[in-house]
Amino acid sequence: MSQVSLRFYEELNDFLPGSLRKRAFEKSFTPTQSIKHLIENLGVPHTEVEIILVNGRSVDLNHQLQEGDRISVYPMFESLDVTPLLRLRPGPLRTPRFIADAHLGKLARHLRLLGFDTLFFNQAGDRDLAALSAGERRILLTRDRALLMHRVITHGCFIHAIEPQLQLRELIQRLDLQRQCKPFTRCMACNGRLQTAGKNRIEEELPNRVRQTYNEFWRCSDCGRIYWKGGHYRQLRDFISNVTRPELAGSGLTQSEV
Ligand SMILES: [Zn+2]
Repeated sequence: MSQVSLRFYEELNDFLPGSLRKRAFEKSFTPTQSIKHLIENLGVPHTEVEIILVNGRSVDLNHQLQEGDRISVYPMFESLDVTPLLRLRPGPLRTPRFIADAHLGKLARHLRLLGFDTLFFNQAGDRDLAALSAGERRILLTRDRALLMHRVITHGCFIHAIEPQLQLRELIQRLDLQRQCKPFTRCMACNGRLQTAGKNRIEEELPNRVRQTYNEFWRCSDCGRIYWKGGHYRQLRDFISNVTRPELAGSGLTQSEV
């Protein structure tokens, strides 16, 4: 049977069985197998791969394997100029928009709090998530590798962390989102945009205590929910500055709930 030699770099090793990490290894293949298929058979979703070199030359995911190919697989480079190489996808999406799978509801709410357009459904099949991601050019967020292996998905992120706040931090770092945050502009419940609302127009809908204490209000343009800078606001502001401060990378975070 024909064989190729493979080596995965950096965090891509996390997807491999222990015995294959951080070293070159041989793998057999069938004549019609694409490189996408080979890499995903080893457990690495194509969305996590940025550059593939075969015998020193960059190739795309459809590359047909040849006996003796030496294959190097790299994740996204954060600080290296790789423009001479063929990237697997046409650069980052200009405005990052997301769709989170059913297990990442809290991360979805966090992203909305930061102003990112993020779809989330309690129940949505893999096929629907993949189709929405591709059709609406949304980055698919999931901890399900098999979901990311759908061919139609061009932009997806495997989320490594378990705790929602760390998941948010991981995503902000990976996609360099710090400067694109627009906190308090989107409804955390439904993803609608918030608009300022004159107190006189919503007064009747407010609880007495709120009417007496606050003067600034926002209303969700989709679900109508009303927001104000209540007692929770300071906590949310602290949460946001915590997760978006780059110098906190890798350090412990406060566990404030949102
Ligand atoms: Zn809403």
